[in-house]
Formats: sequence, C-alpha cells, structure tokens
Amino acid sequence: MDVGRLISKRCREIDASGIRRVFELGAKLKDPINLSIGQPDFPVPEAVKRAAIEAISRNENGYTLTTGIPALRKRIAQELVEDVGWPSDAGEPGSAVGAIVSAGTSGALHLAMLALLSPGDEIIIPDPYFVAYPHMARICDGVPVFCDTYPDFRMTAARIEPLMTARTRAVLLNSPGNPSGVVMSQRECEEVLELCRSRGVVLISDEIYDRFCFADALTECRVGRAGRRCPSPARVAGAHECVLLIRGFGKTYGCTGWRMGYAAGPRRLIDEMTKMQQYSFVCAPAPLQHGCLATFDCDMTPFVESYARKRDEVMRRLAPLTEVVRPGGAFYAFVQIPARLQMTGRQFCDAAIERDLLLIPGEVFSRRDSHFRLSFATSDGTLQRGLDVLTSMMHRA
Ligand code: PMP
Repeated sequence: MDVGRLISKRCREIDASGIRRVFELGAKLKDPINLSIGQPDFPVPEAVKRAAIEAISRNENGYTLTTGIPALRKRIAQELVEDVGWPSDAGEPGSAVGAIVSAGTSGALHLAMLALLSPGDEIIIPDPYFVAYPHMARICDGVPVFCDTYPDFRMTAARIEPLMTARTRAVLLNSPGNPSGVVMSQRECEEVLELCRSRGVVLISDEIYDRFCFADALTECRVGRAGRRCPSPARVAGAHECVLLIRGFGKTYGCTGWRMGYAAGPRRLIDEMTKMQQYSFVCAPAPLQHGCLATFDCDMTPFVESYARKRDEVMRRLAPLTEVVRPGGAFYAFVQIPARLQMTGRQFCDAAIERDLLLIPGEVFSRRDSHFRLSFATSDGTLQRGLDVLTSMMHRA
C-alpha cells in the first residue's frame, strides 16, 4: 500500500530536515564538541527525583484531573500571586485567572494555538524563533506572521504593530529568548502588552527560560514579589486579562524529558485549552506532577550564576571577532558569521563539523541564514574547546 499517498497536507507541508540534518551529521562524530544542545547540563535536584519516585511507589500512576493535581495547581497559583502579582484567588474556581498543568511548555503552546486559531488566523511570532513556533501554528491551521527582530533580537511594540491585521489572534513573545538569549526590558514588555490590550489580542508570553535571567538583565518590578526580577509582561497590573503566561519545569530543573509545564491566564482561554487537553494529551504525567511539586523549594541560583560566567566567556572570546548580541539570559548566543568569511550559517556549521564542533545554523531558527546558535550549557572544558575552534575559524579570513 502507498501510505505516502494518504499522508495529510498538514504533514506534507512541514519540513523537519534542517535540525535533523545537524543531529545526523553529529551522530557520525566520535567525540564531538557539542554546543548544539538545547537543555541544561546539570542533573535534576535529588529532592525532585525523590518526590517523583515516591509518587510512583505510592501508586500515583493513574490519570489526574485534566488541569493537573490540585496540590501542584495550588503551588502554581501561589507563584502567580507572589511572583507576578496576579489576583489572590488565581486558579480557584470562579477566579478570573485559570491555570493548567501541561505536557511540557510545548504542550501549553499547542493547546493555546488550538484554542485561538481558526483556519487562516494569524499569530505574530519573532524571527529568529524557537524552531517549533511556525510549525505549531500551521499544525493548528494558523498562519505564522514573522516579526523580523534583527539585528538586536528585540520584539518591540514598534516592530509588531505594522504586522497586526484583522486576522491577528495572538502575539507570541519569548523572553529570555531562544536562540538569542535576549531579555526584553520591563518597559518593552509593557509596551507590547499595551499594544495587545488596545488591539484586543492575546499576548502569549513563553517564559520557559524565566529562571535563567542573569543579574544584569533583572529589573526592579513594581508588581509581585519585591526585588530584582526577570522582566515580564505578566508583571503589569491587570495583565492577567490578556496575557497567557507559559512556563516550564524542564529547562529550569534539568528534566526536559519529563514533559512538564504550565499555562495561566484568562479563565475563558484556559477553559478552552482544558477542553483541548482532555481530548489530546489527557493530562501531564501523573508521578512527575508530584515530582514538580518539589521544585518550588529548589534554589537553582548557583547554576544560573555559572551560566552567566559562561556567557561572559563567550562574549570575551567572540565579541572582538564578530557581532554577538550579549545574551541576558537562557543559555544560548546567536552569533553572526563575519561578512568577511562570505559563508551562510549552514556552510559555517558544516565547516565547524569538520572540526568536530556541533552548532545549529541560523536557518533552523529563521528565514535568514546569517548566524549560528551556540549553547553554553556545557562544561567549561567543552566550551573552551568550542571557542578555540570558533576563534580559529573566524581568524582564518
Ligand atoms: N519554548 C522555547 C522558547 C524553547 O526553547 C523550548 C525548548 N527548547 C520550548 C518552548 C519547549 O519546551 P518543552 O520541552 O517544555 O516543551
């Protein structure tokens, strides 16, 4: 039987070869210097592992409520109240704010797009973007509208505004950003929020890297817990009426394979997302929801500080040789290929592979191919080896 003939238009229109190509080329190397990995290099905190293991032993292995176990939802709600200053009844029945535990941040993004996009509806996403964004939109029959953020990778209201049409349903903001590590200022976040509010569209804030915000990118926030915090549009008074806040556990606690995240925002939207989850993912993994309960008592600051030092090292070595926007968070740098080399991102990354160095070409994250992404979530030794290769490649011309 020719199964190919039966494959949907949806699948046929998605080309997953870009990132797969990097992985396939990398798999051929014996001991690559791997700066391509999009996850932290530290282990899951012991207390978190223990909580999940104990949940399995206690037979917490069945379905949970679609929205997640009550204890975790309560803890998330507390976080919304304390961290971003959302109403004190957040997450409770009857509150204007709903919350749902999702199968990873991707799960929450997918549910949001299912809930908001009808065929032909538009969602404005950054360019460069997290690889899945445009595909997720298309899977949900929506149209991704690319907001060009070169050369500084800031998705400002001024850049978003001209892209808005009668079909715009949502704007997707990602700060700290993948692949650039750029952190928006609180002022910029507020301006994007005001634009969305005035146009009546939802602002989806993908904050999967919120805990990886380096000291220099933190700002004093007026709403929520006192102190210097990662800027967020959710921290504006009344934001819960139009912001869908999406956060994850995978990157922050080194458990990307657990597939755990959450979304919180306008009740009506969360209710629709719950309906979609009920008939797709059903619920997030039960024992791992119990594991994630323990994350709220974990202090990951030492890891974040170590990534900030690695960021400094990347800047020290590469900034004299090419354009690199200083990452304020996450664990990536999006580095421009010096014009004097006259190479595309793909050509540069292929040349790096010949030197055992794995990077991801800009074309995977963008409609341009002028940069590459390096991940500094690795040991100091591996990072130094990678930077040695990069500096020699950039010096060559
Ligand atoms: N958003 C961004 C910006 C990401 O970089 C990633 C993962 N690389 C995700 C969402 C998806 O994360 P998860 O593993 O929680 O689905």
